Amino acid sequence: MSCRSGCKTKDCGSYAACCRNSAPRVAYTNSANGWDASKQKRWDGELARFRGLEAQGLEPPGTTHAEMDKYERKIEAVVNVL
Ligand SMILES: [Zn+2]
Repeated sequence: MSCRSGCKTKDCGSYAACCRNSAPRVAYTNSANGWDASKQKRWDGELARFRGLEAQGLEPPGTTHAEMDKYERKIEAVVNVL
């Protein structure tokens, strides 16, 4: 038996498929894309940080926090030498 005990059709094929079939459509769509509110929030934060650096005349190589961390460390190293 691959279906969950509460399944109506009992013919989903696998436990995962059964969960998908019974889950609310919106929730399934979101998890399938790996997209959720916290990810959206982090993305907004990264974009805001990128724009902030740009406003200072800097050009980070990417918009992820990891890339900007690396970039800022590089800038600091240069500033310390000067
Ligand atoms: Zn099922």
